[in-house]
Amino acid sequence: MNSVLLIGDDSFTASVITQVRGLDALTVKMVATAVAALKLIEEFAPDVAIVQARQLINSSIFQTFAHERHNTYFVVIEESTLYALYATEDSALASALGRSFVDLYLERTAGAIESGADAYLWLPPPHAAALPTALLSASSVESASSGEAICATQDIAKNHHSTKGDCLNCPPPLFQQSQCRLIQAHIQVGLNRAQRYRDLSRINDWLSAVALVDALTQISNRRAFDSELPRQIKVARLKNAPLSIMVLDIDFFKSVNDRYGHLVGDDVLKMLAKRLLGNMRFYDAPFRYGGEEFVITLSNTDLQEGYAIAQRLRQSIAQEPFEVSPLVEPSGQLTLTVSIGLAELRPEDDEQGRSFLHRADQCLLQAKGSGRNQVVSSRR
Ligand code: GH3
Ligand code: MG
Ligand code: MG
Repeated sequence: MNSVLLIGDDSFTASVITQVRGLDALTVKMVATAVAALKLIEEFAPDVAIVQARQLINSSIFQTFAHERHNTYFVVIEESTLYALYATEDSALASALGRSFVDLYLERTAGAIESGADAYLWLPPPHAAALPTALLSASSVESASSGEAICATQDIAKNHHSTKGDCLNCPPPLFQQSQCRLIQAHIQVGLNRAQRYRDLSRINDWLSAVALVDALTQISNRRAFDSELPRQIKVARLKNAPLSIMVLDIDFFKSVNDRYGHLVGDDVLKMLAKRLLGNMRFYDAPFRYGGEEFVITLSNTDLQEGYAIAQRLRQSIAQEPFEVSPLVEPSGQLTLTVSIGLAELRPEDDEQGRSFLHRADQCLLQAKGSGRNQVVSSRR
């Protein structure tokens, strides 16, 4: 859902809200100060924030705001009477202030963007901009800024109302049509950017998930294991809980490929992955480590309990043949065995789990060396 946060005083937010009302499916929130907005922006995470420049009291709050805003498109609006004064080509005023309007405008714009704004709009108040250039002396602007307003929806030149009573139906001072257009254009840029960001995030989430899953067996892959093992070691140490791992390798798998072909070999790997998943407890996690080798993490499990689980798994694989097409094997069944190496985390193991995994691997080698179809566990 598109969302916009307006930060400014009542007349500012009342003016800007008319620019966002027409937009589809939009949530708008308003807050009076940048300090209050800092809290809101964290939970609301708006697509666009439109901030009245005078609420950004100093550059540090400006920077904090820009830093905290996540992906929010951040528009700062300065309603400046100075703008109108400079626009009069009043060279006396310009020299009194020591610089040209363009110079000041460019410097402020650069400063705002350097501090993290995506756009900085310096808009003259409508009453000031609507006055004929010749009338734009300091005194006429002063009286205008004390309370006259123009209705943005009407022709500015013909409809010069006073807020002191004869225009009660008018909202508080609005921006002129050209200013509205500029504000709306920026809102649209912000919403488009947010939509692109959401699309990219979805693709990114999908890619991340795909990158961690083995394409053949659909269980987690080695990349997932490499990040999961250190995490599980950390949790186990924090909780002072045991942690075990099994390394499981199919016995003589090459002969399955040689005899029935690689496609059947692939099917067997898929069936074995399903079998592993079916035999796991809720918090056990199987990974395809590579080829016909799998690793299973057993959290909260010591060597003794891990050994019982590994034996059960080994027996279930050896005793329950995998079903294959009779075209492949007339009996429709294919019997496999696995060898398993088992290790429990020790205090001296490194936090990446290299020595831990190495111990389980050594046990697997022993299981292979002493006849296969067995479980070997490392001593504690
Ligand atoms: P051991 O009991 O000593 O483990 O013998 P093995 O034949 O299982 O081991 P070896 O390392 O000699 O062969 C492993 C075989 O696994 C060879 C390889 O072609 C096969 N393999 C690895 N990945 C895949 C795969 O994704 N699909 C198929 N079909 N075969 C694979
Ligand atoms: Mg093997
Ligand atoms: Mg192997």
